[in-house]
Amino acid sequence: MKYITEFRRTELAEGLVSDIRQKSKRKVRFMEFCGGHTVAIFKYGIRQALPPTIEMVSGPGCPVCVTATADIDKAIALANFPGVIITSFGDMLRVPGSCSSLQNARAQGGDVRIVYSTMDALEIARNNPNKTVVFIGVGFETTAPTVAASVLQAKMQGTKNYRVLSLHKLCPPVIKTILDAGEVKLDGLVCPGHVSAVTGSNAWQFVAGDYGIPCVVAGFEPTDILQCVDMLVNQVEKHQAKVEIAYKRGVTPEGNLQAQKFMLQVFEPCPAKWRGMGEIPDSGLKLRPEFAGYDAEVAFDIKTEPAVEPKGCICGEILRGVKTPAGCRLFRKICTPENPVGPCMVSSEGSCSAYYLYGDDGGR
Ligand code: SF4
Repeated sequence: MKYITEFRRTELAEGLVSDIRQKSKRKVRFMEFCGGHTVAIFKYGIRQALPPTIEMVSGPGCPVCVTATADIDKAIALANFPGVIITSFGDMLRVPGSCSSLQNARAQGGDVRIVYSTMDALEIARNNPNKTVVFIGVGFETTAPTVAASVLQAKMQGTKNYRVLSLHKLCPPVIKTILDAGEVKLDGLVCPGHVSAVTGSNAWQFVAGDYGIPCVVAGFEPTDILQCVDMLVNQVEKHQAKVEIAYKRGVTPEGNLQAQKFMLQVFEPCPAKWRGMGEIPDSGLKLRPEFAGYDAEVAFDIKTEPAVEPKGCICGEILRGVKTPAGCRLFRKICTPENPVGPCMVSSEGSCSAYYLYGDDGGR
């Protein structure tokens, strides 16, 4: 299959591993920002293949995982309003809020439906003119343009019963927060491929320029990631810090200007709560005043109790790259994909789920 088979070729991967092993002299810690990269790294045994000089740590790039409990409580509260149909991507349903989940709300009679795109949510709105359809907007710069497009389409078609609960997050501000906190020392950043397809690799210039940390945007196939690590090692060994792209079939320096335009036409930056990191300025997206008619927070008086975090769950520390799932005393014993305690075990892109499925220590 074009664009997949050639990036999984064993001889290519072996060549890159051998190159990395030869070049890597200094002990380094690279963070893979994106949950998709974490899963690929585990699935393809990349940690085991890398030399002991290279430590890979997972970052906050799982949108379901970083959604704050308080925001999940809001989505659950919305499901209890009469005449509301909640639409959401599947992963969100099982994420525990303070004392329930969207899945439980559905079991208790709430109309909660899984959709595969915002266009499905719009269609449900058109087919149910006497109800209000709320789309739970969770995701990074990758997802936000599609949600923006759905709002523009709703406006164009005169669909007045469609709302968005915007819990979107922007990636560069959270990386800045992690770097400023200084809890984890990084020598390189594996920049997210899908997010960078929208933002462009230029979004990471501040990491190289202000913090002196090498950045390489990676794709999701094994040789993409190995090429990225190889390029990071090159920079480290040459004492360079610049932004490079190891995913040129998907990412340019400027990104997708049309997607950026849609996003900024409908949304504007706002403070957002991140699990384990608190509120980060300008790291979320809210609907602009001219689209307030589509904003679930404007349409409904959403009241929730102060959020209660899952007891014993260390998802917040894992998302900051400070701990690994192996450091959680609930991991495997109490918290499993069948009975998840925290979002990092629920999400298919969560670190705990990846560690559970592919090995606690990635071979180390
Ligand atoms: Fe939270 Fe479960 Fe991960 Fe522990 S193993 S951090 S309880 S999701």
